Amino acid sequence: MERCLDCNSLLTRAETVCIECGTKVGGDERGSAGFVASIVSTLFYLSAVIMCASPFIDKLPSFVFCVLITSALLFVMRTAKDSTQKLRKK
Ligand SMILES: [Zn+2]
Repeated sequence: MERCLDCNSLLTRAETVCIECGTKVGGDERGSAGFVASIVSTLFYLSAVIMCASPFIDKLPSFVFCVLITSALLFVMRTAKDSTQKLRKK
């Protein structure tokens, strides 16, 4: 069950606009946050794979560089997940 952020009336999942006051409910924001989170996690796994392969393949970026990128993406991924969970709780 979801509630309207504006007037706190109950809404079904299918409803994207509040019947009582006409406020748009979540939807868009949560969708984009989930989209960004999936892109970031894809990049994370990609960089993790490159990180594992980099000591063996000369053409790939250096191992230290990959560690930095991977940990940065991990951080972004966690922040993105946190924000999606916060949106869900509302
Ligand atoms: Zn409302």
